[in-house]
Amino acid sequence: MWRYREAIPINYDENIVSLGEPVTPLLKLKLGGKSIWVKIDHLFPTGSFKDRGAAVLISKMRELGIKKAVEDSSGNAGAAIAAYCKAAGINCDVFIPASTSASKALQIELYGASLKKVEGSRSDTAAAALKDAAKAYYASHCRNPFFIQGVKTFAFETAEQLGWNAPDTLILPVGNGTLLLGAYIGFGELQNAGLIKKIPKFIGVQAANCSPLYNLFSAGTASSRNELLQSTAAEGIAVAEPVRGKEILSAVRQSGGCIIAVDEEKLKTALKDMLAEGFLIEPTAAAAIAGAKDYLSSHNRNETIVTAVTGGGMKSLPKIVDLLNMD
Ligand SMILES: *Cc1c(COP(=O)(O)O)cnc(C)c1O
Repeated sequence: MWRYREAIPINYDENIVSLGEPVTPLLKLKLGGKSIWVKIDHLFPTGSFKDRGAAVLISKMRELGIKKAVEDSSGNAGAAIAAYCKAAGINCDVFIPASTSASKALQIELYGASLKKVEGSRSDTAAAALKDAAKAYYASHCRNPFFIQGVKTFAFETAEQLGWNAPDTLILPVGNGTLLLGAYIGFGELQNAGLIKKIPKFIGVQAANCSPLYNLFSAGTASSRNELLQSTAAEGIAVAEPVRGKEILSAVRQSGGCIIAVDEEKLKTALKDMLAEGFLIEPTAAAAIAGAKDYLSSHNRNETIVTAVTGGGMKSLPKIVDLLNMD
């Protein structure tokens, strides 16, 4: 990702904290009999695209002389922040919901972060972290703009891999929206630089069991009901109150896209489809694949469509087995 160095807001090269982030493959796969581009974006040191954001955020923290950080996460962002903090010699507290996959929690601890498990929802976890952030730098992947400045390299890579063209449609999972907003900023910068003519249509995919953005998009107003009535296997996007909700909806609308929701049954099918292609992905990542399948089945136009695998399955084996055994 540092091949786009000029576009990344770190002032001095000596502050860059890199764990050797690769350019991730953009593969053409068949889904439901139709072809689609899939960016295999979990092939990073800690196993998810969150390393894009962590690399830039932690580099900026080194530039600012930060010694102690706080993050809250449903797992993968916590692991990414913990790994890059370790590499930078920065102390780090990571707050996670107590329900997070055990191996994600262990991974965060193995990178040397101090793990704080919070009973309750993802929002309760964020509230606990915010309190802790009174005494340390809040390295929140959802709130801190430098994280999204790293994630935007997803757009640069995708465009470069398509011969400096934007896809017509981009289908991404959306919880806190760091990937969607990062890609939106990235494609916007490419358009401003005259490298692409138009940005893609953004389709955000949520789990039906926790779909505040879908509800807002469809109803046009805030829904008054509790947004997490049932749990979902897609733990990485189970965000009842996304802090950048308005920004996400505005990006999706401006691009001419929409938000779709997929139920647990569709997550299960998408996971199986990907297993048949040789990919063991985590249930959260299966949401985007399920959304892409939905989109493909209802749109016959000749569009270039890109989706992504955002997280690998190795960290969530018990959750995968539970999902596959669901009837
Ligand atoms: C974080 C995450 C997402 C969603 O990202 P947001 O930035 O919260 O929208 C999707 N898939 C995986 C595997 C993740 O870890």
